[in-house]
Amino acid sequence: MLRPDQDQVIRLTDYRPTDFQLATVDMRVQLFAEHADVLTVLQLERRAGAPATADLVLDGDELALVSLALDGTPVDPSQYDATPQGLTIRGLPESGSFTLAIETRLQPQLNTQLMGLYRSGGVWCTQCEAEGFRRITYFLDRPDVLATYRVRVEADKAEAPVLLSNGNPAEHGLLDGGRHFAVWDDPFPKPSYLFALVAGDLDRLGDHFTTMSGRRVALDIYTEKGRAHEALYAMDALKRSMVWDEQRFGREYDLDVFSIVAISDFNMGAMENKGLNVFNHKYVLLDSETATDGDYAGVETVIAHEYFHNWTGNRITCRDWFQLCLKEGLTVYRDQEFSADERSAAVKRIASVRGLTAHQFPEDQGPLQHPVRPSEYREISNFYTATIYDKGAELVRMIATIVGQAGFRAGMDLYFARHDGDAATIEDFLACFVEATGADLTQFALWYSQAGTPVLKVEERFDADRGELTLTLGQHLAQGPAGTGTLPMHIPVRFGLVGANGQDLVPAPRDGAPVEGDVIHLRDAETTIVFEGLGERPYLSILRDFSAAVALRTSQRERDRLALARLDGNPFNRWRALSDLVGEALQAATIDARGGNPVRLNPAIAEALIATALDETLEPALRAQALSLPSEADIARLLGENVDPDAIHIARDAVVTAIGRQGEKRFAPLFAGLARQGAFSPDADSAGRRALASVLLDFLLAASGTPDRAVQQFRTADNMTEQFAALTMLCHRFPEDDATRDALAAFYSRFETNALVIDKWFSLQATVPSPSALATVRALTAHPAFRLANPNRARALIGAFAAGNQIGFNRADGAGYAFVAEMIQALDELNPQVAARIATAFRSWRCFDSGRREKARAALAQLSEMKGLSTDVKDIVERSLR
Ligand code: ZN
Repeated sequence: MLRPDQDQVIRLTDYRPTDFQLATVDMRVQLFAEHADVLTVLQLERRAGAPATADLVLDGDELALVSLALDGTPVDPSQYDATPQGLTIRGLPESGSFTLAIETRLQPQLNTQLMGLYRSGGVWCTQCEAEGFRRITYFLDRPDVLATYRVRVEADKAEAPVLLSNGNPAEHGLLDGGRHFAVWDDPFPKPSYLFALVAGDLDRLGDHFTTMSGRRVALDIYTEKGRAHEALYAMDALKRSMVWDEQRFGREYDLDVFSIVAISDFNMGAMENKGLNVFNHKYVLLDSETATDGDYAGVETVIAHEYFHNWTGNRITCRDWFQLCLKEGLTVYRDQEFSADERSAAVKRIASVRGLTAHQFPEDQGPLQHPVRPSEYREISNFYTATIYDKGAELVRMIATIVGQAGFRAGMDLYFARHDGDAATIEDFLACFVEATGADLTQFALWYSQAGTPVLKVEERFDADRGELTLTLGQHLAQGPAGTGTLPMHIPVRFGLVGANGQDLVPAPRDGAPVEGDVIHLRDAETTIVFEGLGERPYLSILRDFSAAVALRTSQRERDRLALARLDGNPFNRWRALSDLVGEALQAATIDARGGNPVRLNPAIAEALIATALDETLEPALRAQALSLPSEADIARLLGENVDPDAIHIARDAVVTAIGRQGEKRFAPLFAGLARQGAFSPDADSAGRRALASVLLDFLLAASGTPDRAVQQFRTADNMTEQFAALTMLCHRFPEDDATRDALAAFYSRFETNALVIDKWFSLQATVPSPSALATVRALTAHPAFRLANPNRARALIGAFAAGNQIGFNRADGAGYAFVAEMIQALDELNPQVAARIATAFRSWRCFDSGRREKARAALAQLSEMKGLSTDVKDIVERSLR
């Protein structure tokens, strides 16, 4: 493939509005078997104050211009330049509005990038965020250009009985030759990235919702033929999301219809196009036989996320792509709050923080580091990151902590009222909280511009004679590859002083201390706070609920942590006390293993875990979280440098076995007692019980050394959660066992026709922690069901191996790196975005021992020198090497 060299860096400081204003977009899209004809009529006007001679420069990407007319008259070729990359038109009217009619011809069936208009399983669909609309027509393809759209879609009626676009349905009818049309009208001005069009032979699950002001909204979920019933849970999640946004944020839906389309070839999770969300079918379709509890939670979250974008993203959009976190961080915060309300707040918070530390921390601490609001980029597709989404959500959460829940709601109300219909910035957003609450967020704003994870150091000293606890809090932000500054930030630190019986003491900070209720506002590099009037030394429960996105370092002793693991009234911190203890034990165990020594585990730590497992006062899902030990990647991150993944694997396994042996007699009856009575239900409590049973089973397997219990569960399970958990344990613990081989084969033949389940089958084999996984993965690339061009399948095999197999990918001989580099190159030819995403698995390469480091560097260097690499992959590889 020939690619133009687009090596320019786009900078935030270069932002300026367009010279031309767009009012309306009128489109006619005619779909045919081998091509699509697109006629776009733009109503434009030179902006007041723009230079009278400025040319109109429209974006394009691999486009072919068929015709161009100005106010109905063909434009003379001397007046414009059209290339696949853009259309420049000279001599346009100095004032007054004019129309431009642009005709382009596309070949959707050849579009493997899955950006713009493409075909997936016979269905025509579009993906326009961030810069896909320019692959459909020449356009001012940027988020601050908002217009109303009227779209007419035409296609063969038998091939595409369903014709959809944004907004409300306006007209439809029959055409000659078995064709038909539908017209859609979107009254809300929107940027082009929110455009969508879908046409195909789809099934529909229909329902409706009555909004708080009594408007009836038709809800439709479209799926491939014969699968509409698998969208029932998604529909339920959608209705719950609509209620929640009304109750929690006062936000009502605004069109007569809301549709979701499930698509099998999709680069990301889902897309919030106005009134017509397009989803990876993974986040729509499920039933208990084919989906795990994790899949149910994922569908619920993504459905909510995309729906919430209608207000945070669509009604208020972003001025430019540097402001991406304005919609993404905020919408993730909203979907997290929704899940917390629908399920368990503590469990949700633990899961979110685990996700943040597993995905965002390594990004922030490695070469791909960037601020939550970047100031420059080469390829915007590479900025849909854990930093923008998840750290972005943490910043919103910190604002809520700083201004309080009521202040937060007041600030959001002002934001919605003031910026409805705008393309806004982070400054606009922050100003709403400042005005609504009087808070000073000047220093807080540094969180948006400074990359990296600040280290929060906490030291405590208790003076028994005076009854005083002295806390010293220090913050340090290291200068990283992004080079964005290291000033002290405003860090809200939620805390509690826990008494001997687990009750929270009322803290009495000495006058003038930066403490408000249960929050310490750390603003300086170092602050000392004295709490007075303490009759006994309290246990310090610091950074409750992970109130700031920092790496916490405390001087806390093991004894205190063991006490907090038992006593802390804050369930999140109770989990963290245990998790820190185990994390440290795993690091020590790794050092043992690396030295070839037997791995030791303090029995008191195992006992604390066992006690938590047995604690009936805690919900099962929370106990399951407490018992899920840090992953091998987590341990690598804790160790930080000179990491040997083989030693980590040995150590973690030995620790699991030690806990299993110590707890076996108590785990076995607990496990048996969790067996379900009655029918399967995906609700959070039932899922929590299954999660707890599943971690217990893993300990029991480790202790017994035989696969029997897992084989039994695999055979008798009536739901995917239990069946896949058993299969995973078989593959991970007994990879060479005949029982495992048989189970894998049985699973494949049972689910052969369900792509989403077969993705699990590929992923599972890709993540078997063994150096021989590489050979398996290589062989699976030749499996008849493997298709590199399908993003889910590519991620299931190659992505899972690179990001989820520590010892396979990081093989000491470098063969894992070389293989993944080779696959990235092959995938780049088809789909640069997905190839670039998989390439981010290299981001932690500097953490490993020198042998691995050299091998990884060589693989990256070789990749960077490949001819014809996409901007997407080149950008990731070059930044990884910096
Ligand atoms: Zn989003």
